[in-house]
Formats: sequence, structure tokens, C-alpha cells
Amino acid sequence: MAFLDLSHLEKAFGAMRVVKDFNLGIDKGEFVSFLGPSGCGKTTVLRMVAGFERPDSGAITVDGRDITGLKPNQRSIGMVFQAYALFPNLTVAENVGFGLKVAGVAKAEAGERVAEMLALIGLPDLGARYPFQLSGGQQQRVALARALAPRPQVLLLDEPLSALDAKIRVSLRTEIREIQQRLGITTIFVTHDQEEALSISDRIVVMNGGIAEQTGRPLEIYNRPRTRFVANFVGTLSMLEGVLQDPATGRVSLAEGEVTLGRPIERPAGAAITLALRPEALHLGGGRGDIVLPARVTEVHFLGSVIRIRVETGGTSLSLDTFNRPETPPPPLGSQTEVSIAASDVIVL
Ligand code: ADP
Ligand code: MG
Repeated sequence: MAFLDLSHLEKAFGAMRVVKDFNLGIDKGEFVSFLGPSGCGKTTVLRMVAGFERPDSGAITVDGRDITGLKPNQRSIGMVFQAYALFPNLTVAENVGFGLKVAGVAKAEAGERVAEMLALIGLPDLGARYPFQLSGGQQQRVALARALAPRPQVLLLDEPLSALDAKIRVSLRTEIREIQQRLGITTIFVTHDQEEALSISDRIVVMNGGIAEQTGRPLEIYNRPRTRFVANFVGTLSMLEGVLQDPATGRVSLAEGEVTLGRPIERPAGAAITLALRPEALHLGGGRGDIVLPARVTEVHFLGSVIRIRVETGGTSLSLDTFNRPETPPPPLGSQTEVSIAASDVIVL
């Protein structure tokens, strides 16, 4: 059994089923992100793990111990919330030491642990400050230290970065990952930001309507999405609609002609097929892949290191990325060109 095991969790509020047959095993020391749109049940699953919400059915175990019916303080779980939930009338050191005091840890030991935690989050000298004297990023680091101080078995982070500025969000997520790895603590990190989830997770659970749609390593989720929802939610995607002609060779007819993927598609001949393409799978110009389609340039967006171009082919709009290179400027708007695609880059949905 996994270190943290969520088995057949169900939760309804009134008639609304918010979490549906949710199953997940997390290894010791693993960092798993829940990724999904607002309202898909991420917080509710987290609150059930923390003990703030009772599942209607299902079980939660940590290291083989069934904690489903235990109160939050009987579980060894630390939690960090989105909004700064520090006690405003306590100093930073008192905030970090709060859980230790509640647990009856002796004063001297608690003092040492607080100092250790403040060093861990890189704020060794701010123990005497009050929360209002800290930046948002510093407050969230203190919240992390407070959650970690009692040395919980599991750390839960509910969108801890979403209230912060973009730059701090990126640096703090790396810091959270480093601290998590240094401590080897089993962690669930909730986010609706795909880049955040892709960049720091061992595994991602993509959630949709209370269901875990797909669970996998970041590259798996991105490169081999199993459903249309996952494909669309994680990353940018263009879709070519077609009809499967030959399942054995993966021959598909599109509005702009026939293409062959050279691998079997396990669907009957005549089935409607969607060929999904990441922006980096499309190359401007012919001869750079197995599939070549005529295309007209309709939009050019300079984004810095990347130029995102939209082209139109057979009535379908495709999005493609090229790196900015001063010696090869982007094609002019309205120009007629071709796009090439490697068959192995095509995602079949
Ligand atoms: P997420 O964290 O993914 O945004 P939540 O788990 O907070 O989603 O909420 C999932 C759904 O459950 C939402 O529709 C929300 O309105 C509803 N919900 C959450 N908590 C309660 C509650 N205590 N009472 C009634 N409905 C709730
Ligand atoms: Mg939430």
C-alpha cells in the first residue's frame, strides 16, 4: 500500500457530488500536484485528507494507519492555505512555534525547532517581526515553516502561491520544491496553474468535475494526454478533425487531404478522429516532418524568445511556436506557406 492512500473517496454537498470515486496512492517523499479548474474538488479532497471534511465514503491511510475518522489534530498533517492565514497578533517565531506549543513540546526544544525552521525558509532573522511587516512571499514562507515545524508525515499546500506576483510565484515554487526534497516530505500541492504543476511535480493528478481524469508524470501528462479535457487544460493545442480510413497504418482523411501516422489507431475504420498538435510539434515550411499541409499565416505574436504564429489550413486554425532568431524573421501576415509535422508528435484523441 502507498504511504498516503486515498481510496474510493466520495463527497457530496447536498445533491451535488463534488468528489467522485477518487483514488490515489502517493509514495513516501513524493510531490504530487492536483491540477484542475476552479470548483473541480481539489480543496475538498485536501480538506478530507487534513480532517476538516468527512468523506461520505472511502478511506484515507497514512503509513498503513487508517486516519479517515480522526480529528485534524490527531493526524500528522501540515497545511498551507492560499490566503495568508498567519495569526496577525503573534510574531513570526510565535506563529512558527504555534503547533509545537499546542502539542506540548518543551520550550527549549520548541525554540530550537523554530530557529531551524526559520533558517530552512531563509528568514533566520525575522522571528521578532509581525506578519504585517512581511511581504506576501515572506508570509507564505512563514506559513510553510509553521506547517512543517511539528514534523508532519504529510504536507498539504492549497494554492499557496496564487495570491503572489508572477516573479515571486516562480521563485517561491522552486524554493518550496527544494525544501520538500531536502526534508523528503510527502506532499500534495494544489494549483490551477499548469506551468506550476508541470515544473515542480513528481506526478500530476488532473482533476475535472470531482474526478481524477489522468494521473502521471508531467511529461506523460503533457505528451500523452488521454482525454480531450486533459489535452486542452494542460498546454496549448490545435486540433485537426478527420475520419479514420485504415486503423492498421493510422491513415486518416482530413479536409486538407490524407495523412498516415504509420502506427495503429485502435478505433474502427470510419470513426471520427481528432489529431491534436502542440505548438512545438508544427514547423513552418515543408520537408521537416512526415506530414506536410498547405497553410496561410493569419497571426504573428512576438512573445520574446518564442514567436507564436497562427496558420489556417483547410478551414482549421493551427497554433505553432518558433524560437526568435534575428536572421530568420517570422513570415509576413497573409503569406502562403506549408507546415510540417512529425507523425510521432501527433496526439490522437
Ligand atoms: P476547487 O478547490 O477545485 O476550486 P472545491 O473543492 O473548493 O473546488 O469545491 C468543489 C465544489 O464544491 C464547488 O462547486 C464548491 O462550490 C462546492 N463546495 C465546496 N465546499 C462546500 C461546502 N462546504 N458546502 C457546499 N458546497 C461546497
Ligand atoms: Mg480550492
